[in-house]
Amino acid sequence: MLLDARRFSGGTTLDTDVCIVGAGPAGLVLAAELAGRCDLILLESGGDHDEPDAQALNDGDLIGHEYAGLGATRHRQVGGTSNIWNTPVDGAAGAKYVPLDALDFHRGTARPFGNWPFGLTELHGDYVRAQQLCGLGSFSYDAAAWVQAGRAPWADTGALVSRVYQLGTRHALSAPLCTAVERATDVRLCTHATVIALRRDAARRRVTRLSVATPGGAPWDVRASRVVLAAGAVENARLLLLTDDGAGCAGNDSGWLGRGFMEHPRDSAIVLRPRTSELYATAGFYDLHHSASDTWILGRLALDDSVLHAGGVPNASATLLARPRAPLATVRAAMPARGRRWLPAGGHGWSRRAHAARWFDGFTVLLNVEHLPHPDNRVTLGRRRDALGVPVPVLEWRWRPDDQRGLDRLRALVAAELGRVGRVTVEDARRPDPNAHHHAGTTRMHDDPALGVVDRDARVHGMDNLYVAGASIFPTAGFANPVLTIVALTVRLARHLLGESA
Ligand SMILES: Cc1cc2nc3c(=O)[nH]c(=O)nc-3n(C[C@H](O)[C@H](O)[C@H](O)COP(=O)(O)OP(=O)(O)OC[C@H]3O[C@@H](n4cnc5c(N)ncnc54)[C@H](O)[C@@H]3O)c2cc1C
Repeated sequence: MLLDARRFSGGTTLDTDVCIVGAGPAGLVLAAELAGRCDLILLESGGDHDEPDAQALNDGDLIGHEYAGLGATRHRQVGGTSNIWNTPVDGAAGAKYVPLDALDFHRGTARPFGNWPFGLTELHGDYVRAQQLCGLGSFSYDAAAWVQAGRAPWADTGALVSRVYQLGTRHALSAPLCTAVERATDVRLCTHATVIALRRDAARRRVTRLSVATPGGAPWDVRASRVVLAAGAVENARLLLLTDDGAGCAGNDSGWLGRGFMEHPRDSAIVLRPRTSELYATAGFYDLHHSASDTWILGRLALDDSVLHAGGVPNASATLLARPRAPLATVRAAMPARGRRWLPAGGHGWSRRAHAARWFDGFTVLLNVEHLPHPDNRVTLGRRRDALGVPVPVLEWRWRPDDQRGLDRLRALVAAELGRVGRVTVEDARRPDPNAHHHAGTTRMHDDPALGVVDRDARVHGMDNLYVAGASIFPTAGFANPVLTIVALTVRLARHLLGESA
């Protein structure tokens, strides 16, 4: 059921079993998984379309290295940040999906702050369910499952192996979820409902009320048996930081609250040029293409487990972006009509046909790089306040010398391995672009309250009825685009809230 909080009278108190804060992918999936099984309220700061006043609430300040900003990388509206996805899939806006690697969950003592409380095996069933919820194909990301005529991967080099991304549209994810939520009689999705404070009981173990602000109206309250923050990695931390009543914030005995912020820097330094034009013809697996089983696939090069085990390099994924010899519009105009449909779409595509070398100068090797959690990369509360009187978030983010050293080793390794298929140059030694818009890590998961903010069930340490959903709970984030893992973890949380066993 969809309710616009602008129609509520001030002073209202709504009671429910579960209250979810935020209707992005995490909040919608949780609501849809719980619908019909408990009474719940889903509070969404935005409306059902893009509204400037709602987006203004995403404003925040930056300290440190250049970053696109907190406004540009998030979105307030039912569907959350997925409303601004920018990967073209089948003519619509979509996203790339990929799970974390087994070694992202556990890499022993090689990395500081590096391990999850459970492994890929434990999340496998939830990833399978996530594939369905995201409108994807089978839970299969090795190249072998996706080989078809004319699109075979290159031979593994030892250090580099071929795998895939799956792609799906925003609509495929959010439309069924919105329909399920709107139809459910035990779900109240309240739009224009921004949570501005979590009130705790005297023992500071339970959230007793959520204070909610609605533009043009008086504040109102929700009372819930259980509360789940699903407001995105910056806002989840901000809401917990706001619980500070002089005796500390909820979940922050470790001091990690807000810390360990991670992105997925993108590096474009490596260029692969063909020794012969054969390279274009054999590279079709790495183009965006439709599989025989109707799934959109993008081939990629991944690090073999032996490389990750050895340590010294961050996890990473390499995709190939064709380098047009002239501006795309010029190439498009000069190409025969038949060839135009192979032109780069969203960067991933190229002419595999004859004369490709006439139009393209090899490939930029785009590395999506793991960013290790560092306590000083963090979200804090600023002095400025937003239109609702709440302190704005401040993101302090730096690309550190050890990050750069890891990237330099990674570039050297990938360049050496790709030297087997073509001529490789490393053309740009600058810092990578930090803007994949994948926020993670600010309420990290750890069994030990001294090392994390939430436990393995995503319950805030020290709290009996407060949970967190979304990438903020990732202790590490690999290179993988986060939504598939967000959805899998949210399915897991739904099972926990329903009291089902894993
Ligand atoms: C341009 C772009 C492209 C991307 N591409 C990909 C991709 O290809 N693959 C991928 O996996 N990921 C991608 N991402 C990242 C992905 O969109 C996010 O990781 C994902 O949306 C996070 O889901 P979420 O539900 O946790 O948070 P969000 O989607 O941010 O949703 C949070 C919701 O909470 C609401 N909210 C916030 N604060 C409050 C409050 N106080 N009270 C009530 N409601 C609140 C917000 O309005 C919002 O609707 C991309 C992001 C961007 C910006």
